[in-house]
Amino acid sequence: MAPMTRRTLLQYGITATALAQTPPPPLSLEEHGPLVIERARPGKPHTGKVLAAIQPHSDDIPIFAAGTCFKLMDEGYTGVLIRVTNDDMAGPGGIAQTVTANERDNFAVARVMGMKQVFDLNYNNHTMDNIARSELRARFIFLFRLLRVDTVITYDPWGHYEENPDHYVTSACVEAAAWMAAGSKDYPEHFAAGLKPKSITEKYYFGRFQQRVNRIVDITSTVERKVDANLENIAQGPAGHNGVRLRDRLAREGKKLDLLPADDRTANRNYIREFVLARDRETGRRHGIEYAEQFHYIGPEESRVEQYIRRNAK
Ligand SMILES: [Zn+2]
Repeated sequence: MAPMTRRTLLQYGITATALAQTPPPPLSLEEHGPLVIERARPGKPHTGKVLAAIQPHSDDIPIFAAGTCFKLMDEGYTGVLIRVTNDDMAGPGGIAQTVTANERDNFAVARVMGMKQVFDLNYNNHTMDNIARSELRARFIFLFRLLRVDTVITYDPWGHYEENPDHYVTSACVEAAAWMAAGSKDYPEHFAAGLKPKSITEKYYFGRFQQRVNRIVDITSTVERKVDANLENIAQGPAGHNGVRLRDRLAREGKKLDLLPADDRTANRNYIREFVLARDRETGRRHGIEYAEQFHYIGPEESRVEQYIRRNAK
């Protein structure tokens, strides 16, 4: 389409005055609230609350949200880790070896992060667009009610340009389940088994690419533990033992980097901090923070009725 000139605008009957009176963008763009910088809070304000960190693969939470998980658990949350696939297409050796290696990594990530429980839902890797979403949604609803989950942290179901079906199917099912878990009629067998409806009041959604960001979480206080979590993703992903791998490759080429010293653990940690956390540094820099993770955050809905009663009841 040709660029809009004054002449073309006039052809469409749009005048300069009309342009000046262009209404503001629709309110819906601000639904879920404006940008908030979430900083470390003193004490344990989240005591009694349960955080479900939900990842399709063993390395998703470590890369995009481990800093925030550590922060929320520091502030009192109990964490549970739910891995949805068995990661059978991403790792070393044959398929069985790949599955075993990722299972080890996932349990190690959970241990380093201080997760109270781990659930492996064991769907096949990269093929989640071929599953019954209603089944996965029902499994999440069961877990949310069983574990009394208050807050979920996972991929953004509305993140743009996501190429991995496991990411967008998981997040779509989490979003639907987070809403339906509060219902009193869906899955009555859960209630017969002793469970109760449970509303999910907070959602932190991360995206690999574009998403609407309205929450920046300062993870400066937890970033070294985020490095430790990423250190455990050995089978796949950008972290794990890649520092040592690069150091050894450079040695074969007769080169050396101060970043990658002889001690393996230090080389791997330095590599993770420099390269894997570059995005967190860049996100933080825009807001005057050393390290930050970003999310689309959906918080508890304020009841207009209750607000009105508070203001007007005699
Ligand atoms: Zn993934």
